[in-house]
Amino acid sequence: MDNIVILTGAGISAESGLGTFRDAGGLWDEYDLDDVATPEGFARDPALVHGFYNARRANCLSAAPNAAHAALARLEAAWPGRVTIVTQNIDDLHERAGSHRVVHMHGEVRKALCTGCGHRWDAPAEMSVATPCPACTAARARPDVVWFGEMPYRMEEIGALLETATLFAAIGTSGTVYPAAGFVAEARRQGARTVELNAEPSEVAGLFGTLRRGPATREVPRWVDELLARQ
Ligand code: NAD
Repeated sequence: MDNIVILTGAGISAESGLGTFRDAGGLWDEYDLDDVATPEGFARDPALVHGFYNARRANCLSAAPNAAHAALARLEAAWPGRVTIVTQNIDDLHERAGSHRVVHMHGEVRKALCTGCGHRWDAPAEMSVATPCPACTAARARPDVVWFGEMPYRMEEIGALLETATLFAAIGTSGTVYPAAGFVAEARRQGARTVELNAEPSEVAGLFGTLRRGPATREVPRWVDELLARQ
């Protein structure tokens, strides 16, 4: 029975109304990533960065999981082997669709992190430079998201998952942000079958055994139906 690892990116949440990162006209076009998604940007202007993530958090709260998130939750519930989602997304749509095994390698916009003591807690809707840490009271909170130049979370656990995966899928990710873009090569080295589900070929499309093109809300439920029918 396959051990399945599924890497997801912004494309799986696009049809829930959350802007992707690199698609033309994407929400992130309006912002300079150096300003809002780097530790240096936060050091320069924490209020701007809090404002940016407050808006992302509000978008996330008003969005609903779509048919692709729901299909992955259905797969986890029905599959006799292990199904783990490793997501680059900072939204919580996988969890709200009912998935339980979700690894947020780039953190979560609904969480706050104290840069003083390392405590994590559920972020208030609006964070600011004055938000106090509930553990140490210091006003040194940041959104608990991984910025460019920082180490993604839970890499050791992800490495172990990729070592034992027999089927690796990437959904809605452009293959431009490492280390996630390197997971397909790692999974292949371990002998896993690989499939990419994306609206258009990613930067690493050539490394996948199977390519499925189309919107996630169409392709992911189809793929899940096929997997469940074949088991
Ligand atoms: P990306 O924006 O670079 O790429 C998105 C990919 O999804 C593209 O290849 C695009 O062709 C594809 N796509 C777009 N709409 C699709 C659809 N409806 N169905 C299927 N595929 C579709 O996203 P990425 O690779 O995840 O980029 C990485 C970074 O962006 C991550 O670090 C992540 O933290 C951040 N990000 C997260 C969110 C979120 O949490 N929802 C949103 C934007 C960006």
